[in-house]
Amino acid sequence: MDKKQIIITTSWDDGYALDIRIAELLDKYNMKGTFYVPIRNNENPVMNATLLNDIANKYEIGGHTVNHIYLNTLGKSEANYEISECKNILQNQLGKQIDAFCYPGGKYSQRDINLVKEAGFLFGRTTRLLHTSLDLHPYLMDTSIQAYNHSSSVLTAHCLKNTFLFPIVQNYFFYKGNKNFAKLTEILMSRIMTTGGLFHLWGHSWEIEKYGLWKEFEMVLEMLAFQQEIAYLTNTECWKILSNK
Ligand SMILES: [Zn+2]
Repeated sequence: MDKKQIIITTSWDDGYALDIRIAELLDKYNMKGTFYVPIRNNENPVMNATLLNDIANKYEIGGHTVNHIYLNTLGKSEANYEISECKNILQNQLGKQIDAFCYPGGKYSQRDINLVKEAGFLFGRTTRLLHTSLDLHPYLMDTSIQAYNHSSSVLTAHCLKNTFLFPIVQNYFFYKGNKNFAKLTEILMSRIMTTGGLFHLWGHSWEIEKYGLWKEFEMVLEMLAFQQEIAYLTNTECWKILSNK
């Protein structure tokens, strides 16, 4: 494998109508993305079928359960329904294969990993941050940066949980005090450009709207876009390349 392989992928959760604005910005910067869309969601309404079709014409759509329910609150058969049925519904509605799944709230257990696998998904995307390694956990895809300004303590907790990438201590000092996601992107990308790696940006359009982060979000896309040595991929394209390396 080329040691300096550099990949950027993005993913967008919850299927809120403002996902169209994310899709337009990704288009402007020639970036790819995967939109994880539940069938229903009590917290934030899911976009209508016309809008979803528009996004699905250009971008990958992934499953995010039927009712956007945290799987750790469900028994096995209910969890199985939420996972397998969202795949069936999206496939019927969009007329294309759905390969990617994302755990609502990042909550899952080994049982749910197995259910995701049995339903025929290739992997389940988590909400773990600061992952930049080209190595993947089986059936799990972690992320690097969320389009949201997390507190330093949340970021530190993600550093300490990350058993994969660089030494924990190095990470701790790296991120301590830096909570702006554009700044963190700059720091992580400068390292990835030297060592190679995967940069996975994710977020929610409702959250970007709620916290007024559109300008910062576009700055990040500007920073990441149009670089010859970078492969811009959907989550599934990225998974297929990295799981076969
Ligand atoms: Zn969600």
